[in-house]
Amino acid sequence: MPELPEVETIRRQLNQIMPFEIKSYALSDVSDSIIHTKISGLKGKVILEVQRKGKMLNFLLSDGRHILSHLGMTGSWRISKEKISAKHTHLQFSGVFKGEKYHLAYVDPRRFGHMYLYNEVQANMKLSELGRDLKDPAFTYKYFKEMLLKYPERLIKVTLLDQSLFAGTGNYIANEICARGGVLPNRKVSSLKEAELKRLYKSVSIVIDGATETGGTTFQGGYADTTGNKGNGVGHLVVFYQKICQLCKKEEVIKTTLAQRGTYHCPRCQK
Ligand SMILES: [Zn+2]
Repeated sequence: MPELPEVETIRRQLNQIMPFEIKSYALSDVSDSIIHTKISGLKGKVILEVQRKGKMLNFLLSDGRHILSHLGMTGSWRISKEKISAKHTHLQFSGVFKGEKYHLAYVDPRRFGHMYLYNEVQANMKLSELGRDLKDPAFTYKYFKEMLLKYPERLIKVTLLDQSLFAGTGNYIANEICARGGVLPNRKVSSLKEAELKRLYKSVSIVIDGATETGGTTFQGGYADTTGNKGNGVGHLVVFYQKICQLCKKEEVIKTTLAQRGTYHCPRCQK
């Protein structure tokens, strides 16, 4: 499932063909299972740029409207000079960037993704459901600590996954933050000491930046960037999907299930 680093990789690639003038577009027969608003009046409009909050991509249109796109489990955007004929293409724009023709398509085999065409007010309302983005300069230690302590009885990893507090996290990121922070994922938030909270906070950017630099992380063939390439971020992981902990390089990683999600920890490095 694409998490912040993967969505950020896609965003950066999309911006390489912005501004993009939409000449025409096509929808698949089942596109309305993904696109939850009516799509109309896009012909001749320009996508000015693509922004991101958490895992939500935000396409800014020249008429002031926004396309919000969440990739769900297996969604991706593809860019090509040729018409994109990949199976499970649900929306395809044909248009022009710097006088050259491009195709821009949303591909999603499992269709857990969701998309909306909104005016400014609606878009802001939807984005306000999300907490601060993990890469936002306003994502400070103070914010991190306050949001965690909102629910002192919750387990640390479960709270880290809450998009209304921490926009952009997902299962592998939450596992890796706990590992690098030296904290067991099933600890109650109320049990965390100040030093542990600080280590967890520092781990957020280490995990995010590590995975983003390598173009995102792919597990079981889920995620691909706009060229269909898979990311290399697996090399940055210390416990997630690892046999041996990559922090101590000694201990075997233990896999458990926490709130129905695969959870990994090192018994030596995490307390
Ligand atoms: Zn270890």
